[in-house]
Amino acid sequence: MQNTHDTQLIFELSKPGRRAARLPACDVPEHALDTLLPAEAIAAGPPALPEVSEPQVVRHFVNLSTQNMSVDTHFYPLGSCTMKYNPKRNERAAAMPGLSDLHPYQAEETLQGMLELLYDMQEILQEISGLQECSLQPAAGAHGEFAALLVAAAYYRDIGETRTKVLVPDNAHGTNPASAAMAGFESITVKTTASGFVDLDDLNAKLDERVAVFMITNPSTLGLFEPNMREIADRVHALGGLIYLDGANMNAILGISRPGDFGADMQHYNPHKTFSGPHGGGGPGAGPICVTEKLAPYLPAPIVRKEDGRFRLDHDMPKSIGRVRSFFGNVGVLLRAYAYIRTHGPDGLRRISENAVLNANYVLSRVKHILPVPQGHRCMHEFVASASNLRRDKDISAMDIAKRLLDYGYHAPTVYFPLTVPEAMMIEPTESESKETLDAFAEVLFRITEEDATLLHDAPHSTAISRPDEVRAARQPVLSYSP
Ligand SMILES: *Cc1c(COP(=O)(O)O)cnc(C)c1O
Repeated sequence: MQNTHDTQLIFELSKPGRRAARLPACDVPEHALDTLLPAEAIAAGPPALPEVSEPQVVRHFVNLSTQNMSVDTHFYPLGSCTMKYNPKRNERAAAMPGLSDLHPYQAEETLQGMLELLYDMQEILQEISGLQECSLQPAAGAHGEFAALLVAAAYYRDIGETRTKVLVPDNAHGTNPASAAMAGFESITVKTTASGFVDLDDLNAKLDERVAVFMITNPSTLGLFEPNMREIADRVHALGGLIYLDGANMNAILGISRPGDFGADMQHYNPHKTFSGPHGGGGPGAGPICVTEKLAPYLPAPIVRKEDGRFRLDHDMPKSIGRVRSFFGNVGVLLRAYAYIRTHGPDGLRRISENAVLNANYVLSRVKHILPVPQGHRCMHEFVASASNLRRDKDISAMDIAKRLLDYGYHAPTVYFPLTVPEAMMIEPTESESKETLDAFAEVLFRITEEDATLLHDAPHSTAISRPDEVRAARQPVLSYSP
């Protein structure tokens, strides 16, 4: 329950002169600002900040935070995003003063601990991917895709080959074709079959010596492991092309299957998905990339190297594509991922994937009689169900179910993606949820599909805003306040 006070803007609570804290009188000599700063750097007056008491500030922000759904407050089965539990020990590790108080311009000799952690992280990620070199710099998965495609472009330039095309399956995440275009390639769509796998005939028809990279998400966004992966990689390699593995779904195969072993030449990780980093309000994330030996010279510089027991940043990479991010990347995110990886160890990482797959298959088996899964009865870490029967028979759409779930205290799954499945609902429970939570979620799905369609069309009924125009809200957000 909220009173109107809680729903006011903090500016509306403001009363002139009210303070949360008072500073003691100044006990050092004061200097006029204009003796210290040039005139144009001095503001005309103090900023128009709200004047409120401490309890008002605390209540305001705590109440605001409760209007959000998060993994700390709700089950969050958002497929493709891997919204799993963010262990609090990761936060403690990353906030240790010896790590969080460092300055990136400090001398390397005083950064040895941090550099060692980053070096270890490079080695660990190489080991998990079965690839030979790693750059921690990119700031998100999509940024990793972009950086790796620049690496591929630099490689082909260097060996004197002109390759202009990147192939992307039709069920890929939108960032794949976008990264290809941003890196200067023409993005070409490869069809998938009714079973959700790469259509080998269509691949053959589109594959030639102009193809630089085939980008594949494996397991795919449908939660399926590509059965022809090796054959696809062989065909692409035979024509001199490279395989890029979108590693967003690595949480399904940790310690079980390595991209380098099934044909990938490069891949990114999403530590904020696979390795339990908090997604925050859209960030920050990280997007480390791993590549094979032959692509290593083109990676973003610097890379952490170990020599005679010391760690140093190697800037001497003449073929490097250069920096893609300031300093060493989003180190705070990498430290959380490091803490998570070291907490679990190799066997624990494998169990994570086994449990992620088990949980997804459990939910799939519980809901498929009302939400059929067109691409099969087994899945990896996630599955894509279809609400098209419900839409036809009861006028209940995937959107209605997604919106109604909010009333029951669940974040919605990803809906209407991938586009290859009508009325798609992409559900990813993750490994960090209990059987009780999964059962309760399945029960709520059943209950919603029994509800009156008109009630569902207006859902959610319990949120401050019900059905905004989502495209307009994203494209033309109203962010400024006027009283
Ligand atoms: C999340 C995701 C991306 C993009 O990763 P970000 O870290 O959000 O930039 C790319 N591909 C797939 C399949 C994803 O799920």
